[in-house]
Amino acid sequence: MVDLTVTALDPPSGNRIRYELGSGNWASGWVPRLAGGGELLLAERDRIDVLLLGDGFKSESDFRQKLDQWIEAFFEVEVYQQLRGAFRIRALYTQSVQPATKDRGSYYGVAMGADGVVRDPKWWNLADDLGIAFRRRLWDSINAFGDMNLRQYPDDVEDSKVIHNPLSGLYSHLVVMMLVKTPGSSTGMTRRVEFGPNEARGLNVGFGENSLHEFGHAFAYLEDEYIQERGVPPEGRDANPAIPSVYNISNLSFEKHVDRVPWLHVSPWGLTHRQAAGNEPSPIVGWLWRGGEQEFGVWHSEYQCLMNGKHQNYAYTPNGDDPTFGEPPSDCDRVFVGGADLRWRHPPTYCLWCQEIVVIRTLEKTGVLATPHDDPSIDVRGRDWYRTWVAEGRGNYWEFFDVAARIGQHEVWYANPSVRADDMCQLKQLDGTYLRLDTSPLYQVFDAAPVVTAASEPPDDGEELLVVTA
Ligand SMILES: [Zn+2]
Repeated sequence: MVDLTVTALDPPSGNRIRYELGSGNWASGWVPRLAGGGELLLAERDRIDVLLLGDGFKSESDFRQKLDQWIEAFFEVEVYQQLRGAFRIRALYTQSVQPATKDRGSYYGVAMGADGVVRDPKWWNLADDLGIAFRRRLWDSINAFGDMNLRQYPDDVEDSKVIHNPLSGLYSHLVVMMLVKTPGSSTGMTRRVEFGPNEARGLNVGFGENSLHEFGHAFAYLEDEYIQERGVPPEGRDANPAIPSVYNISNLSFEKHVDRVPWLHVSPWGLTHRQAAGNEPSPIVGWLWRGGEQEFGVWHSEYQCLMNGKHQNYAYTPNGDDPTFGEPPSDCDRVFVGGADLRWRHPPTYCLWCQEIVVIRTLEKTGVLATPHDDPSIDVRGRDWYRTWVAEGRGNYWEFFDVAARIGQHEVWYANPSVRADDMCQLKQLDGTYLRLDTSPLYQVFDAAPVVTAASEPPDDGEELLVVTA
């Protein structure tokens, strides 16, 4: 049974109130044992702390209402519900005298502009008075609880260019979600806030009101799956990590050969084989879907995901008139919340590759992947753990989360957009029918792996030889 209660720990009359959210879920920390059932109890040092703060809230009841909404939305996501024993979720209300704006007169002074949280300049890390005050108040809020898990990743962890932020010196077991009250757009972002000039001490903070997407960045280092700007090629990212590790694995792929895409097992050629006959809609979960921040040379695994979104995304086609041009159809009302366009994210569900990454990150942090024989180097350890995950862990995860059934469910959604009319409204045409997603040019199947030829016998015609391996 999932506990959604929000309990104040301090008298409600004060202007600084601590809360516990769903403490029945995590009073003693645990994660489910994916193989064989039951629970694994967590040591204190392996707990994951989630701290919700509010900036720009003038009344406690207003903030409290946000907390009720947040916990309900969080546990609508199946993977967080299943892993609820790992997340010690708490909140702190601090009264602001005014909402968050560009004038920065709210308690933490989060900078808000016309388009949401200000990204440039990087006010959260500036050494000016407001920047220093922001970080001091943020740290003071963390200390209000006295027992936050302040473990960090070591400084020498290899930097992955394909996850959301560097891990070196990052607080590994603490994320802060800063809910922001503002008169205008509360479009969010997640940034690594740096503390201390002498050593790397970074804290991932998700800003904004629609914070489930930001939580994916802040906690699981997931990348955006939408196209931020059409026509732009990726900058400085053209390959996946040479050797995958639990620390560098990404929800995006910068390669499309069948043996290099990390979610091959989710695809129709993967662990749950599927095909269509005749005129049936083709299976489309787990192919290469166009874009991830940039448009070209990068792919994600599924049409919809909490890490996807509108921005300059295509609804159906990059050729000619895409339905995302012009005004959204009136059917879309339900997925526009507080000015935010939640198409692609509704109902709040991860694509099945993001879901698996969330599980891997949670098991890594909670010590479940550790063995008595682990290498002292975090990079070697991370590769060993990923290899073991692929060989053994993934099968248990597949059964525990019934991933085969989930894949089937997602395929049904995409094959029948009319049954999820509100959620797939971007595919609706003027005559009321829906575009057929399996005929969309937004996805492609994997390229065949190049044939490895003996060095003494290079192909002399200069052409790459290809075989279909699946
Ligand atoms: Zn995803």
